[in-house]
Amino acid sequence: MEKVNFRTKVLSRHLKQETPILNVILQSLPCLSYNPPELSEPAAVFYIKEMRKLMDGHNLEERDWFFGLILQSKIFNPVKRGGKVFLSPNYSQSKEQQRQITMRRIQYLVEHGFSKDWLTVKGPEDELRKLALLDCLFIYDHSLSIKMGVHFLLWGGAIQFFGTKRHHDKWLKDTEDYVVKGCFSMTELGHGSNVRGIETVTTYDSSTGEFVINTPCESAQKYWIGGAANHATRTIVFSQLIIDGGNQGVHAFIAQIRDENGDICLNIRIADCGHKIGLNGVDNGRIS
Ligand SMILES: Cc1cc2nc3c(=O)[nH]c(=O)nc-3n(C[C@H](O)[C@H](O)[C@H](O)COP(=O)(O)OP(=O)(O)OC[C@H]3O[C@@H](n4cnc5c(N)ncnc54)[C@H](O)[C@@H]3O)c2cc1C
Repeated sequence: MEKVNFRTKVLSRHLKQETPILNVILQSLPCLSYNPPELSEPAAVFYIKEMRKLMDGHNLEERDWFFGLILQSKIFNPVKRGGKVFLSPNYSQSKEQQRQITMRRIQYLVEHGFSKDWLTVKGPEDELRKLALLDCLFIYDHSLSIKMGVHFLLWGGAIQFFGTKRHHDKWLKDTEDYVVKGCFSMTELGHGSNVRGIETVTTYDSSTGEFVINTPCESAQKYWIGGAANHATRTIVFSQLIIDGGNQGVHAFIAQIRDENGDICLNIRIADCGHKIGLNGVDNGRIS
């Protein structure tokens, strides 16, 4: 009711074209300042620790380790309220700032052991541990989790599941250490769900033993590729494989797109997908 009255007064002032009252003290609205519920709500009538066990389900120690780790660094944007520290990214930052800080957060996490053995150790316990850490990443920020997910789960996962020992030995450790920065080029401008129809072509040249990857038309350009616009140095490319004129269907290839200095390689074209309504910490790009 109070709010309606306030709005009516403001609107009638506009309609009457009254000059604004200059000595009104401006106050920020309560909805613009965050206060933890503990400060205004009554205490919980259940056992918080038990509820937490139920909600999180497994690997509580690892989850606490993660939150403790990000609490130690200013790059996770700590804010103090009511004697507590809250962590949340600043979504008012520009696209460039969000991309930069997301990258710094990944480097911090990798340096502190987040991705240790991520791809080289297997077993149900390890999978649960990874699931718990991914949960925590998503709680903190979707850009951070998606950018890491593209690198570790899409690029790394493709090598793990499509590759053989030769590929594992060459790429998995460097992927865990973030020495190689991978992305995953499946979607094309003309082809999303219908991966079978993609138009990128890889032709095997038996005289040199090379696979030559080509984008034959506009709709074949790889589109929305996370990590491509700024940081990825390698990509998995999905393409039709042509051998001796015959189409062998869709196959995955590893291709280098940037050199050690981060410069785009010869014969590779990359364009930025630009600002998005969300996930601006992820540098989505187009590759051909
Ligand atoms: C922010 C962002 C990041 C991305 N990152 C990557 C990345 O890193 N690498 C990558 O390869 N791709 C990436 N993608 C692409 C993403 O995987 C595709 O958008 C997705 O595969 C869907 O393809 P599409 O957008 O062409 O939609 P379409 O395939 O054209 O689908 C459009 C609509 O039609 C429906 N539809 C499609 N086919 C059928 C069918 N047979 N039956 C019924 N309904 C159907 C879909 O459900 C959808 O609602 C990204 C996309 C976004 C938006």
